[in-house]
Amino acid sequence: MIKVGIIGYGTIGKRVADAVNLQGDMKVVGVVKKSKDYSLEIGLKRGLNVVALNEQRGGLEELVKKADIIVDASPGGIGEKNKEIYLKNKKKAIFEGGEKASVAEVSFTASCNYGEAYGKNYIRVVSCNTTGLVRVLHPLNRDFGIREAFAVVIRRAADPKETKRGPINSIVLDPVTLPSHHSEDVKTVIKGLNITTVAFKIPTTLMHVHSLRVSLEREASKEEITETLIKEPRVIFASSEKGFNSTSQLIEAARDLGRLRNDIYETVIWKESLTMLNKKTVYLTLGIHQEAIVIPENIDAIRASLKKASKQESIKRTNESLGILKEEIT
Ligand code: NAD
Repeated sequence: MIKVGIIGYGTIGKRVADAVNLQGDMKVVGVVKKSKDYSLEIGLKRGLNVVALNEQRGGLEELVKKADIIVDASPGGIGEKNKEIYLKNKKKAIFEGGEKASVAEVSFTASCNYGEAYGKNYIRVVSCNTTGLVRVLHPLNRDFGIREAFAVVIRRAADPKETKRGPINSIVLDPVTLPSHHSEDVKTVIKGLNITTVAFKIPTTLMHVHSLRVSLEREASKEEITETLIKEPRVIFASSEKGFNSTSQLIEAARDLGRLRNDIYETVIWKESLTMLNKKTVYLTLGIHQEAIVIPENIDAIRASLKKASKQESIKRTNESLGILKEEIT
């Protein structure tokens, strides 16, 4: 069993902890968070060994010594500081998208560059928006070549648990200048891709939506594009014919499906949005559940770093354990 230590027990850390314990080949040996609160107490009740750094100062290094690998899901920028302790103790670590790309040897999504991450000591699972974009752009680039991509990223303002960022009544240009950081982050995974993004923050907590236009190198039909995307692991379609025309219905479906924390691990494409604007240009609208989408990638990053499974094997095991859907939601 791979012994996993988790640093940070917020939106991402608590989901990674649960996902790790659902695998047959790894288990959580401890969790470190900043302060003692209700989530620490619930974690303890659920059998996790959670400690608060405010109360146990040496807790982080103790956990690092115990674990085979660390998943650092502390707030952006703290992982880079913690890296000193991982280096000192010669421990591998997975970082999250809030860290700079330079914190790790590779920026990662499982289907795009598992091979590049194989055996690496420091892997950065890219942000929710980047993961969502790469899952669609990588197969399109592989099968048709991408000449240029443009995405409007409509971002949720905060996660449901966060109160410090709200309440708000505004649409924030995030930032006003182009490009937003998302396209630059995509390029840390798909090197040299010609992509620009612009981002807006809106008063919602459920999901992000991306409005994506991709110009291809070669002509393609709608059927060919659909076939490429349907084969991609962790990409699913949602149909307006079945009543999906907003993020609310996707989250409601995840609740109805009995998903843990109503999580949607897949990149969702609104089926009827897929439109050929001309023979070489495709349009798509994507839904990204920011709290959940990077969770399967964290599990695969652990196996890649420790060379415990091939790409296909790891994706298959992770998908089965989390009940990840093929083709369509519902
Ligand atoms: P969060 O604020 O929900 O949780 C952070 C956790 O880290 C808390 O448990 C806190 O107690 C703990 N913490 C704070 N300071 C610490 C320290 N010095 N040492 C150890 N633990 C500390 O944050 P989050 O949303 O889970 O984000 C974690 C990382 O995941 C960030 O890099 C973020 O950019 C990335 N990410 C977040 C989302 C999202 O939508 N929330 C999506 C993808 C990636």
